[in-house]
Amino acid sequence: MQTQPLIASLPGTLAIRWSSHMLEWIEGPVRDEKVLAIDAGAVLVVPLSETDLDRRSDYLDIVELWSSAERPGRYHIVNCACGIAYCGGVDGGILVTHPDTATVVWDIDVREMHGMFPRPPPWGEQPGVVRLIFGRDAYERSIRDILRAMQARAVRPLRWEEIEHLDMGGVSALESSRASYPTCEVLPIIDWLPDWGSGNLETLLAMDPDAPFVLGPRLS
Ligand SMILES: [Zn+2]
Repeated sequence: MQTQPLIASLPGTLAIRWSSHMLEWIEGPVRDEKVLAIDAGAVLVVPLSETDLDRRSDYLDIVELWSSAERPGRYHIVNCACGIAYCGGVDGGILVTHPDTATVVWDIDVREMHGMFPRPPPWGEQPGVVRLIFGRDAYERSIRDILRAMQARAVRPLRWEEIEHLDMGGVSALESSRASYPTCEVLPIIDWLPDWGSGNLETLLAMDPDAPFVLGPRLS
């Protein structure tokens, strides 16, 4: 593989916001009961410069993020909500290296990961790699904090007021949906990892935010 030029190198931080993209009916806890639910997830907020934070609607995969702290390798830390990276324009994944015991580095090929960045990207159309450099202590702490926040949110339904917008339709779509279902006060969330409908809530809740990171060599 040809080495791409480094076009930006920035201190990395891990932060999330919440995203909601659609409302749908699911089977409720009682057989044949339908429950209005929301597709929602955690979205990684990626620093593109010291003053500018980009916002993407692709989901954070907390399983991949956790693994990236343990072993260097290529990870789909950011993925389309459906779990098909190509769909989200992020099929290249993020190359994670551990150059020393105190540092975690992300190399993001802007052509392979075009879905991760705004259009037009701040560096123009040139090919290359955007590098984010994280201190390991902060990286691990942030992963634990994000996991705790996701688990806390996953075990209770959301009130309408807590849903800021729908990615498709914005605030107005949310308001009209709420008006259409006046007796529905809270909504369960049905997406937690980028992979629709495959028990991802159980996967999320099975993770232990206090578990040690088990460092290892890169997986081939
Ligand atoms: Zn998709």
